[in-house]
Amino acid sequence: MERTFIAIKPDGVQRGLIAEIISRFERKGFKLVAIKLIKPSKEFAQKHYHDLKERPFFNGLCDFLSSGPVLAMVWEGEGVVTYGRKLIGATDPQKSEPGTIRGDLAVVVGRNIIHGSDGPETAKDEVNLWFKPEELV
Ligand code: ATP
Ligand code: MG
Repeated sequence: MERTFIAIKPDGVQRGLIAEIISRFERKGFKLVAIKLIKPSKEFAQKHYHDLKERPFFNGLCDFLSSGPVLAMVWEGEGVVTYGRKLIGATDPQKSEPGTIRGDLAVVVGRNIIHGSDGPETAKDEVNLWFKPEELV
């Protein structure tokens, strides 16, 4: 069954949005198969966002991801990679539709509270980066 990697970033955890965000994935009907709270190192954040290393915001982004606890999760279900991104909304919360997580709960791109894998291959890589096989139920 299809799986995706979803993370609530330090701003989402700090703002107390864990239950709200998990609830949206649960109510849709996706299945939670792994979850842990982890404070990633900067090196780990750089690995997670390696595709963006040439972007001007890369350093600040990695500093931010490693600045506090992140709730790392794996969600499973038909179409979960693509639909998970729909639930999350556009990268820039100014452009996210109302009804999406970022549209309803965030304002600026550098504090957009949640990450979701952008495709099936990325999802596999990110699940393997963040979780050991025995952590998936
Ligand atoms: P994520 O990978 O976190 O789910 P995304 O796939 O919607 O987000 P990416 O292009 O992968 O968007 O960018 C990764 C993250 O980098 C964004 O979520 C955002 O926090 C940050 N980011 C993207 N563009 C900018 C920007 N122009 N300025 C500052 N931060 C940015
Ligand atoms: Mg991305």
